[in-house]
Amino acid sequence: MNEKIASIANEILNGKLIERSDIEFLFSLDDSALEDLMYWANQIREKFFGKKVKVCSIIPGRLGGCSEDCKFCAQSSRYETEFKEVQTLNDEQIIEGAKQARQKGIQHFGIVYSGKTISEKELVRLEKLIPRIKNEVGIDVCGGFGIINYEQAKRLADAGMSRYNHNLETSANYFKKIVTKHDYQSRIETVLAAKKAGLGLCTGGIFGIGEEDSDRIDMALQVRELGADMVPMNFLHPITGTPLGDMPVMRPREILRLISLYRFILPRAGIKAAGGRVLNLGDMQSWIFYAGATAIISGNYLTTAGRAVDEDVRMIKDLGLEPEIN
Ligand code: SF4
Repeated sequence: MNEKIASIANEILNGKLIERSDIEFLFSLDDSALEDLMYWANQIREKFFGKKVKVCSIIPGRLGGCSEDCKFCAQSSRYETEFKEVQTLNDEQIIEGAKQARQKGIQHFGIVYSGKTISEKELVRLEKLIPRIKNEVGIDVCGGFGIINYEQAKRLADAGMSRYNHNLETSANYFKKIVTKHDYQSRIETVLAAKKAGLGLCTGGIFGIGEEDSDRIDMALQVRELGADMVPMNFLHPITGTPLGDMPVMRPREILRLISLYRFILPRAGIKAAGGRVLNLGDMQSWIFYAGATAIISGNYLTTAGRAVDEDVRMIKDLGLEPEIN
């Protein structure tokens, strides 16, 4: 067992947040250190989260036809994908989606819109829809509607939304190579607006888009500074027609390494294995929890198929963990 990893992990278990120099050391380790990293990441997960695993479900309230140009995304209208044109779900379809999630025992339901931001008309609609979902279905409502300001965030919070999903995607430095139609600062400001409005923060990013380890460290530290309570980790699912459509899928051990390292950096934040879990991890997806993940998105993702909720719940229980469903 690597003594330096053990010593860093013990500091975290004693409540300390680790510095960049220690983080860089952990990132510098080669593949042979993975089992050590996972052993300690699992200890850290158990210390701060016990056996609980959060299971979330998401629905695309507005899908595709996006004005932005995020190079990994099938929903940009700039790329030749099946989501080039916008499609929207009506209130009843969204409520039906919430009911189906609730029937499976899921407690957290996220409504996600494509697009740079939301219009006043959409916001008014959501102000009516969110309380309806909470009252009629009895499920916690989260949402991600792009770049918003404090007033918009406050209205969503007042309507009963509990958490805002807005990802940084990658580091400030690498972001410019992935997105040109809006800047990193607008993402940071949105997250801060949501926080100020009292919303929980579901803020993470995507891996496997050509970023370096230094970008992964930068993003983790930025997310930590912002105070995200849930950190979704997406792993590129290359989509034909997008600029990153030919990127290789990530190796499962590389994904487990990254989840473990994020668990070291963000000991008290939930870590959610989100998009790309099924494609990239295949048979190894149950290992994410021993790497420190505490949450998953179950059911379908926004533009790609996921796994059935029952299957995920069985996997979590088989591991001796406790899915937060009822
Ligand atoms: S990630 Fe969001 S903002 Fe970027 S292209 Fe996709 S839907 Fe649009």
